Amino acid sequence: MNSFFTAINCMDGRVQLPVIKYIQEKFNALYVDMITEPGPILYLSEHTEHQLASSIFYRVDLSISNHNPKGIVITGHYDCIGNPTSEDEQIIQIRKSKAILEYRYPELPIYGLWLDDNFNVHEVG
Ligand SMILES: [Zn+2]
Repeated sequence: MNSFFTAINCMDGRVQLPVIKYIQEKFNALYVDMITEPGPILYLSEHTEHQLASSIFYRVDLSISNHNPKGIVITGHYDCIGNPTSEDEQIIQIRKSKAILEYRYPELPIYGLWLDDNFNVHEVG
C-alpha cells in the first residue's frame, strides 16, 4: 500500500505531524509529500502570480506525476507567523485556495484543513 497524498502546508513545526497523522487516518494514505511555505494559503488565494505560488505548483506537479497521490490538502492554522490574520480570514483563504487547486487539478479531490489553537485538525467545507 504505497499510497501517497500531497499536502500544501505551513513551514511551522507545530503543524507537520498533526497533518500527516490526519491524512494517514482519514484518507488511509501511507506517505505524505509535504510542500511547505510560511502561510501558503496567502499565496494561493491572493498572490497566485508570486514566485512562491509558482514554486508550490511546481512541487505539486512533481508529486502528482511521480507519486500518483490520492488527493491534495491545503492548510491554514492558528498563530501563523507567515499569515498573521484572523481565523475567519484564513478560512476564506483556504476556500479560495481550494477552488484554485480544484481548477488546476480537476482529477484529484482537494481538501481544506484548519488547525485550531490546540492544533486539532478540522476539515473546511
Ligand atoms: Zn503558519
